[in-house]
Amino acid sequence: MTDQVDLVPLGFFPTPIDNWENLGRELGISLSAKRDDLSGLGGGGNKIRKLQYFLAEAKAEKATILITAGAAQSNHVRQTAAVARKHGMRSLALLRGQLPPNPSGNLLLDELLGAELEFHDRDDFNAIVVDLMLERKAELEASGERAYVIPIGGSSPLGALGYVECAKELREQFDAQRQRHPDYIVVAMGSGGTFAGLVAGCARYLPNTQVLGIVITTASFASRECAASLANDTARLAGVDRRWDAEDLLLNYDHIGPEYGIASKEGNAAIRKVAEAEGVFLDPTYTGKVFAGLIASLGATIPAGSDVIFVHTGGSPALFARG
Ligand SMILES: *Cc1c(COP(=O)(O)O)cnc(C)c1O
Repeated sequence: MTDQVDLVPLGFFPTPIDNWENLGRELGISLSAKRDDLSGLGGGGNKIRKLQYFLAEAKAEKATILITAGAAQSNHVRQTAAVARKHGMRSLALLRGQLPPNPSGNLLLDELLGAELEFHDRDDFNAIVVDLMLERKAELEASGERAYVIPIGGSSPLGALGYVECAKELREQFDAQRQRHPDYIVVAMGSGGTFAGLVAGCARYLPNTQVLGIVITTASFASRECAASLANDTARLAGVDRRWDAEDLLLNYDHIGPEYGIASKEGNAAIRKVAEAEGVFLDPTYTGKVFAGLIASLGATIPAGSDVIFVHTGGSPALFARG
């Protein structure tokens, strides 16, 4: 049971369910957005739900510094830095790439939050980053700090519990409004914790809802096999009695675009479409590509007339990233 795992409440929950009537009418579905971009702390986004669990463990270990890692424009690093500040800790992030001359987007916000940043410009970043984080932890502890390491994207079974809880929160919102449960939840699949948590959470709380993951990276952790194993480990930790094979998952790999973190044409068109129809900003790395994937799935994976929830996972600071 997730109730037995400690968490520190962070951010503003429940996040709103925003009826996207204009777009729904145009697309021939009933469409709402779960606004996890409005989760609050540090500009908000999906990592806040996961960080509630890591922070509880970090506090139990009396951590003085949180260590994590990601891409230069990582939303996860920004949200971790904000959580560290709010709870009187330092944060260190290992970032892929180089420090640009004029930091913008998430990097600017990281600096405002006083995050300590360390850049690594190497192709094997994903392969070495766990060892690097453990190295830094050992060094910091030798100098008297207590360091707590959070995985890339906060995607471990512990972090994914945040999205088991999100499925529960959605169920409670639908039931309170006497609204029927959705046919589909459409969400980004990057490091996988959000998708895996929703898959495990829906098995318990929204059994008639299918979770469609739109994959935005070619990294090995986004493979079907990794997604199934994370969903299974998350379900086990949450006490959900269901298991999945790789082929059971509804995942779409057609919308990654040029590569992770590089905008796609259809993703940019989706960003514009949502802004024009609903007055809401998506982002070029995740949610724009995911919304493009949602549109492309209509009439195929998602039948006309379906009741669809799009999870807005945040990320709009990347709209302001340059260089
Ligand atoms: C991290 C992130 C995602 C992907 O979530 P994962 O749990 O890593 O799959 C989606 N959208 C935004 C804006 C993110 O920052």
